[in-house]
Formats: sequence, structure tokens, C-alpha cells
Amino acid sequence: MKRYGRPVALLLGGIAIAFLTPACGRDTPATRRTNPERLRPTPATAIETRPAGRPVPEGDEAALAEARSFLAAPARSETCGPYRLVSDADDRLVSTLRAICAGPVATFDSIYAERLSVTPAHPPRGTLVLFADPGRFRAYVAARADLPQGYAGFSLATRGLVVLPAAGVTADELARTLTHELAHLAHRRTFGADLDRWLAEGLADAVSDTAHAGGQAPLTGFAGVEGLRVRLLGGYATGRARPLHELAALPEGEFDRGRVSHDYEQSALLVRFLLLDPELGPLLRGWLAARALQGGGIDSRFPPDRRPDWDEIDRRFRRWLGAPEPGAASHR
Ligand SMILES: [Zn+2]
Repeated sequence: MKRYGRPVALLLGGIAIAFLTPACGRDTPATRRTNPERLRPTPATAIETRPAGRPVPEGDEAALAEARSFLAAPARSETCGPYRLVSDADDRLVSTLRAICAGPVATFDSIYAERLSVTPAHPPRGTLVLFADPGRFRAYVAARADLPQGYAGFSLATRGLVVLPAAGVTADELARTLTHELAHLAHRRTFGADLDRWLAEGLADAVSDTAHAGGQAPLTGFAGVEGLRVRLLGGYATGRARPLHELAALPEGEFDRGRVSHDYEQSALLVRFLLLDPELGPLLRGWLAARALQGGGIDSRFPPDRRPDWDEIDRRFRRWLGAPEPGAASHR
């Protein structure tokens, strides 16, 4: 899910899968950094692995019919890359949508696989419901008690639906929101069970904050997230940004629930930092690749074996961001 201006996630019907963590050989920091063996199950156990990903349905008919009932008539149906597209958009908006479908939507799976070093186990599928009138979108969301209000879009991965308003935003912002929601469907196709919230959101932003109506920009530095960085630096300056160990351990229901929250900015920037870091990048990608396998005996939470631990990652992350070191005075 994406909050106006900032992404947000809701995962309905996630299934928790317990992983057994096999004893890994203790190794030196140097080998730990580059040695993928640490992420593989010990040969003696001969654990059989299979893709953890789950298929995304074409689009739950009942849920789709409900969403359709809030669209202005006549609603039009067409395709958007590999997805079905249902909308009440006029011709001008449809041509904007078609450009986005031919751009970041069409290249989505290759960008996802390339940036995260994982390949979804199931093909891209689902229905995109785009509202030309944001008021109709809000009316639809308000009619559903289980959907939080005030978001720029949402996805129901287990039902194969992505729903968002298409008007009132720039074409580039629409491309980012749509790509962000497609990432939640791709998380299901790749990892099956829900990822920790910070990771699900951060990964979705790693493939969507660089999207624009014509395609994708490379993932570099703070390109595309300058505003988030300023907001998060404000959060550190006021002492409102969480320590990373707290963000990583945050239960689903507590994510982004504070009156003033930096959970999304922190998740987006943390995952970007991890992916771009020469040491932590390979560690995260290796862990994601193993996490995309079921029965692999991989540590179900990042970082595996807590090495480095969150306090160490927190120090490096703040240095990268330009935030004060932990414990440095903050003015609340
Ligand atoms: Zn999200």
C-alpha cells in the first residue's frame, strides 16, 4: 500500500512459515562477507528445497466486482503488460496509462530480479483497478472496513488486485505508485509468506522510487529519495526515528501507526543503503535468494545470525544518511 507521498503496505492473508535454522559453520568476518556457503544448508542434512513463491491469482472475481461497482460507468477493460486493467479513465488518461504499461510495468520483473537477485517463481498476473476520480477511490476504500484510509493505493496479493486512483497525480508519481504495488504481488510470487514489514516496504521502494512514466532510472545514491532523506534526518534530529533493531522487530500491526511516523522513510532508505553497500548488499541478496527457497533452513530474519548486528548496521546507516551517531544529543 502507498500513503499519499509515501508508500505503505498491507498484506492480507499472509501465512507465517517457520524455518528451522541449521547450525552453520563459524567463519571469519572476511569469509562471512563473501562466502555464500553460510547461507546454504549443511550438506549432511540434505534438506530438499523448493521455491517459496506462491502464484498470484488473475483477480478474485468477487473483490473485483466490488471495486468495479465504484468505478464510473462505462468501465473499460484492457491489458497493461501482463496484467488486466479495469478503469473508468478517459482517453487522455488512458494514453498516459498505456505509456506506463509499456514502460515500468513491462520491465518490472526484469528490474525486480536484477536489483534483488531473486527470480519470482510464478508469472506476473493480476488485475489493476484504476480510478479516474480519487473521490470514487476513497468512497470504495471507505466502504471496506478492513482497509486503512488515506493511502495512495493498495494491493491484495492473495486476491490478485492492485487498486489506486490514477488522476490528481503526475504520470511519474502514478508510475511509482503502480510499480510499488506490483512489487507486493512480486513478493508473494517470490517469497510466498509475508516478509517483515520494513523489508516488504523497503524492497518495494527499491524498485519503485526510481520508476517514472517512461521507464526506470538506475538505483544510485539518494536519487529519487531526496525528500525522504530530509524527512528522516528531521526524525533523527528530533529523536523520533527508531533505532533499527526496533524497526526490524516491529510487529505488523504497529508499523506506521504513530501520530508522527518515519517507519516508511526509514524502511525505504535502509533497504536502499543495504542494497548499495559493498558488504551488506551481497549479504542481503544472498539471504533473499535463500529466503526465496522453502525448506532451505535459512535464518528467517535478516541479518542472518545477527552478524553484523542491528546496532552496527545502525551506525553505518546513519553515517551514510548523514544523521547523528546513536547517543548523540537530539532536540525533542
Ligand atoms: Zn507498500
